[in-house]
Amino acid sequence: MRYDAVVVGAGPSGAAAGILLAERDLRVLVLDRARFPRPKICGEYLSPEAARVLDRLGVLKRLEGGGAVRLSGMTITAPDGTRLTGSYPCAGRWRGYRDHALAVRRIVLDRVLADRLRETAADFLEGRRVTDVIVDGDGVVGVEVADGAGRPQSIRARLVIAADGRNSVVARRLGLVAPHALRRVALMTYASGADGLADRGEIFVDPPVYAIVNPVAPGLVNLGLVLPLAGLSAHRGRLEELFDTRVRQLAGLRARFPRLARAAPVHALGPLAYRVAPPRHGGVMLVGDAAGFYDPFTGEGIFAALRGAELAADTACAALARSDCSARALAAYVRTRRAAFRDKERVTRVLQFVIARRWTANAAARVFARCPALLSLVMGVFGDFVPPRALLGPPALAALLRRR
Ligand SMILES: Cc1cc2nc3c(=O)[nH]c(=O)nc-3n(C[C@H](O)[C@H](O)[C@H](O)COP(=O)(O)OP(=O)(O)OC[C@H]3O[C@@H](n4cnc5c(N)ncnc54)[C@H](O)[C@@H]3O)c2cc1C
Repeated sequence: MRYDAVVVGAGPSGAAAGILLAERDLRVLVLDRARFPRPKICGEYLSPEAARVLDRLGVLKRLEGGGAVRLSGMTITAPDGTRLTGSYPCAGRWRGYRDHALAVRRIVLDRVLADRLRETAADFLEGRRVTDVIVDGDGVVGVEVADGAGRPQSIRARLVIAADGRNSVVARRLGLVAPHALRRVALMTYASGADGLADRGEIFVDPPVYAIVNPVAPGLVNLGLVLPLAGLSAHRGRLEELFDTRVRQLAGLRARFPRLARAAPVHALGPLAYRVAPPRHGGVMLVGDAAGFYDPFTGEGIFAALRGAELAADTACAALARSDCSARALAAYVRTRRAAFRDKERVTRVLQFVIARRWTANAAARVFARCPALLSLVMGVFGDFVPPRALLGPPALAALLRRR
């Protein structure tokens, strides 16, 4: 059978794309090299607006009923110890789909999405690794796949949707991936002993390092450190030791959670940031991390994966209905995706500048400490429901004038 669409990867972006295309009666095949449930290195924070897409996909209630932790905001500790308590705005002009974010373990989130995908008419094959794309002239016409026993198979489709994450074989085979100047690595684990952490995540900024603590289950937090990649290779094979040393060096984190103890092995992932150019070929679209990644500080990767899949599904359906999957026809998705995420990317870049130096981080913390309304606006931007442009216009000015 020739499929309308083959989706490579069944993480949040691939599962969402598969569900949305199957719901529109297209013949869809979703392939993942893993079998679910499978682990994924992640801070496990879901922005309030991610809930809207999860509801549309039919999984929000399952997650809410299945132990997802509600987060009313974030507490950020600056290098000088200034503590900012940011809550999502739940009154006024902008409201999130939920007035809280969620902490959900990826082993749960991705399994729930995979289960939902199985309920649709899409074919979903696990343990199938895509090894290459099949190119004919200026179009991608399918993928090469290896099954569990390594046997090769060619699968043809009118459209290939690359949702295969940060090491996307599709994006690499098409020569679209380039390194980023921001060279950072994340060390992730789970920990116990974060006493007093209830309905908030916490971020500790201590340039050039920052740490994120996210309460994912009773008595258990997701604990991540983001640090420069330089010099890390000297610690190869001694990640736990490096992690513990860095945690001890973070004075704010140590003072806040003196009983913090690792409860799982440490995993490293980096370099975190990379760029991916839009495809020059027709017949292919990139969603989620396959389309690029910057930094996890603002925790929008899963939202971007889900929202990107929505946008991709819209363009894919229109293109398939017109029997025109040329690069030109699919460029509509590249444009809408860029428009959807461009402003937040700019905010994230400014933020990276601020948190890269002690004096800028401390100065920004002092401003936000005096202007809680401005902090709340920024939380709404992080939460993906306040448009980033609000930070440049009258709403930000009004928030600045409402000083404490
Ligand atoms: C350290 C860190 C912390 C983060 N914290 C957060 C956070 O707190 N909140 C947040 O929103 N985002 C966070 N992110 C980002 C988030 O994890 C990603 O943006 C998100 O997982 C992207 O989803 P995806 O579906 O595109 O890719 P993935 O979740 O990576 O899924 C890709 C899927 O493709 C499959 N695959 C890969 N290669 C192949 C192949 N060749 N053939 C077949 N299948 C294949 C994989 O098995 C996998 O199932 C973080 C990222 C990092 C690095």
